[in-house]
Amino acid sequence: MSLVQTFRIGALTCHALDAGTQRLDGGAMFGVVPKPLWERRAPPDERNRIPLALRCLLVEHEAGLVLVDTGVGNKENDKFLDIYAVENHGVHGVTLLDDATASIGFTAHDIKYVINTHLHFDHAGGNTLIRGERAAIAGAAGGAGAAETAVELAFPNATYVVQRGELEFARHRNERTAASYLPPNFEPIAAAGRWRLVEGEQEVLPGIRVLPTPGHVPHHQSIVVESAGETACFIGDLIPTVAHLPLPWIMAYDLHPLVTLETKRRFLAGAERDGWVLIFEHEPGPGVGRVGLGKHGYEFLALDTPVGRG
Ligand SMILES: [Zn+2]
Repeated sequence: MSLVQTFRIGALTCHALDAGTQRLDGGAMFGVVPKPLWERRAPPDERNRIPLALRCLLVEHEAGLVLVDTGVGNKENDKFLDIYAVENHGVHGVTLLDDATASIGFTAHDIKYVINTHLHFDHAGGNTLIRGERAAIAGAAGGAGAAETAVELAFPNATYVVQRGELEFARHRNERTAASYLPPNFEPIAAAGRWRLVEGEQEVLPGIRVLPTPGHVPHHQSIVVESAGETACFIGDLIPTVAHLPLPWIMAYDLHPLVTLETKRRFLAGAERDGWVLIFEHEPGPGVGRVGLGKHGYEFLALDTPVGRG
C-alpha cells in the first residue's frame, strides 16, 4: 500500500499522508448509536476497539509546504501504545509520517507551516519528537513525562498554527480532557515562540484558510484549500470516518455533541452542494472523496482516480 494519495485542487498539489493507525473503543467512537448498528460498519477487536487511520494532509503551496495535523509522534510509552494500539513506526524515518513525507521527496525540514485541527494527542502528537538515543532512554524511564526535557520540534523550520482558544483550552485541562491534551505536544512550541494563534475563520496563506467547526472540542477547526474554483477540506474530528456521515453518528468523545450535530448539518449541506473534496482523518478505508445525497442520507464518493500532476 502506498503511504500517499496525491490529488490536485486547482493549481495546488495535495497529498493525503498515511501516518499509521490506532484503535479506539467502538462504543466511544459512535456515541449513542447501538453496537448492533455500528459493528456492521466497523467490526471491533477482542477489546472492543475499532481500527482508525491517522491521516495527514500535505499541500504544496508557493509559500512552502503546509502540513495539516501530525499523527501520534513517538513520545509515548509502551503502555500508552498498547492501550491505543498505535502503529506508526517508520521503516526509514522515526515515524511513518516521516516515511510518507520522504516517499514524495520531502523532509521534515521542508515543512513551513503546520496547522493543527486541535491539540488532541492523535492530531498534534507528531508536532514534537524525541530523537535517536534519547527516545530509547525516555521509553525506559517511563515515557513522555521523563522525556519532556528531550522533546524537540519535529518541524524545525515551521510556524505552527492553531486557534488561540484551543491552546488556552488545552492548557486548562480537567478530569474529562486531561487524557487527550498532553503538554509535550504543544508547550515546546510555545516555549520556542513558534505558535501563530488564529481566531475564528482566517486565511493562513492565499488559498488556505481555517474554518471553525466546533463540537468535538470548542475550538476545533477544519482546513479549507481552494484554488481555481476547486475546494478541499480537512475535517479532523468533525466527521472522523465515513461511517460518521449520518448526522446523529457522533463520537462520545465530543464535549458538545449537539454543537457537533449543528456544525455537521451546516457543513455537509455546503460540502455536498459545492462538491468539496473531503479528507477524513481517521477513515481506515479510502478517506479522500466527495459526499453525495442518496436515499438514506449522505454517501461517500471516493476520489479513487488520483488526478496526475500538471
Ligand atoms: Zn482524533
